[in-house]
Amino acid sequence: MRRHEHLYYVLDQPEISDAEYDASMRRLRELEAEHPELVTADSPTQRVGGKPREGFVKVRHSSAMLSLDNALNEGELRDFDRRVRDLLAGEPYQYVAELKLDGLSMAAHYEDGRLRLAITRGDGRVGEDVTENARTIRALPLRVSGKLPRFEVRGEVIMLTKNFQQLNADRETQGLPRYANPRNSAAGSLRMLEPSITASRQLDFFAYLLLVDGKPYSMSHWESLLLLQEMGFKVNPKNRCCPDVGELFAFCQEMESRRDSLPYEIDGVVAKVDSIAQQDNLGWTAKAPRWAIAFKFPARQEETVVDNIEVQVGRTGALTPVAHLRPVFISGVTVARATLHNEDEIQRLDLHIGDTVLIERSGDVIPKVVRVTRQGGERRPFQMPKLCPVCEGDVVRAEGEAASRCINSNCPARLKETILHYAARGVMDIDGMGDVLVNQLVDRGMLKSVADIYQLTLEQLLQLDRMGKKSAEKILANIQRSRSQPLPRVLNGLGISFVGERTAQILANTFGSLDEIEQADEAALQTADEVGPKVAESIRRFFHEHHNKELVERLREAGLQFMQEIHKPAEGPLTGKTFVLTGTLPTMTREEAKARIEAAGGKVTDSVSKKTHYLVAGEAAGSKLTKAQALGVQVVDEAALLNLIGVN
Ligand SMILES: [Zn+2]
Repeated sequence: MRRHEHLYYVLDQPEISDAEYDASMRRLRELEAEHPELVTADSPTQRVGGKPREGFVKVRHSSAMLSLDNALNEGELRDFDRRVRDLLAGEPYQYVAELKLDGLSMAAHYEDGRLRLAITRGDGRVGEDVTENARTIRALPLRVSGKLPRFEVRGEVIMLTKNFQQLNADRETQGLPRYANPRNSAAGSLRMLEPSITASRQLDFFAYLLLVDGKPYSMSHWESLLLLQEMGFKVNPKNRCCPDVGELFAFCQEMESRRDSLPYEIDGVVAKVDSIAQQDNLGWTAKAPRWAIAFKFPARQEETVVDNIEVQVGRTGALTPVAHLRPVFISGVTVARATLHNEDEIQRLDLHIGDTVLIERSGDVIPKVVRVTRQGGERRPFQMPKLCPVCEGDVVRAEGEAASRCINSNCPARLKETILHYAARGVMDIDGMGDVLVNQLVDRGMLKSVADIYQLTLEQLLQLDRMGKKSAEKILANIQRSRSQPLPRVLNGLGISFVGERTAQILANTFGSLDEIEQADEAALQTADEVGPKVAESIRRFFHEHHNKELVERLREAGLQFMQEIHKPAEGPLTGKTFVLTGTLPTMTREEAKARIEAAGGKVTDSVSKKTHYLVAGEAAGSKLTKAQALGVQVVDEAALLNLIGVN
């Protein structure tokens, strides 16, 4: 397994298919389940293991992690070479040139061939212990063979451009902010408190230094790179030995021109004098070694004019302003558009239509606007439209959110997402209505609204690719069955912002019918538990939107469950009172206490809020007690509760 991991993740030359690899992995897991005594920490199954110690412990590096001087052009590179030549006084020397990956440096310590400790660069002297997260990087071996009992490997943790783009696309769908560049996303991913998230981010590791006791192991840097490769580490195959500064500069130029075809972002080339003895002779200035330099590629930025700002509607209904640019050539690519993300970003840039701006490409698919460099003569401000440019539905920006959204559930831009959510497990449970089917149905115009689901016919389904009679009938049966899903699921299915499973349940229990909820004003909506002003506003706006009104009517005609019996509490001394339970009570379990409160007409909820009347606190009460005290909620013990009920 270790060998195949190495072939796949380090050498990118797998010998077996992914399916075969997965099957072996399953077999290994089975064996380990049968023989837990044989599981070792370096087993390929154990990459996601423990959690990082709280807050990432600071650890001192064995020797400082370098920061290098920069050369910004050929002249500065030749100046560097001249200083090296002068100081070495006629000795022959050569350079090792490495790609400068846009990631973050990390030191991995091995003992007895096993990965023991991984530390981020930090400030160069002290970094953070990220061992548990580093273990999830498949290109970093958990175990290596060889004769060195203890050693340290330094290298760069990066995220491949395709993974970076996918991650940002996923985050956009989830309404999360995008990462600015692959370096930020790699750094963020390595510092996750949950290693399984780090694992899902598919980070990569390129080794560039082998140390023993904080000192270079081999007397030639080039040799140590070869050795690292032999030991099973991933070493960039593009690295090159350059006999003089002419070849070094040619390498820099070649890499700059090939920059866009590489699977990762680079921002330059690092050149080091190969001989470690010569490195020692050259020594250091106050802040950087004299034997190494970073040749930086020019930033991929150009100036151009923003001719217009248009709005795109994404899969979730989010409206994204996009700058239309006077086309400009940036490192080999013509750029005519740049994303502006949201209204706040435009305000931050103080960007108006007609302004001249600086555009940058940085690994992201769409370039971005760095800043306004010159205000246009007839500049016009941008305004977020009040109506969706796709469907003319209402556009709403919820309090505290960066994005403005089209709230028409049937908006063509977000229809696929709406339908997938509606049909999802736990919502309306329409089995078989997944990505593939929904894509076809929407693309062929068979579904223009969620309500159209209930008008689908067998003939229509049979026209679709690879759809047999049997599966078509099954899907229709599943659609039919969804008509009897209870009200909370229907509510959840509508796709109202901030109304998920739990809120839908509370709303249904409080109001008993969709009509009541539709007609309730914001004050009335807030009488429901856990419904605050933000949620209430979102619900009211949703039902106010005319497309949504029509959708609700069509779903009613389809015979969905719009009513539900309200579970009326018993009448008793506690009628109208809300309780929260915490800690261990002396004689009753929580369930017993809850049953007795409800039998006496009271209500029990999970969390303390201003609406809570009493907190019943027992032994070892925790944060709920603190919160109740802060909110001035009355705190009672079991005896006092029984008094309220009227038992004593
Ligand atoms: Zn729309």
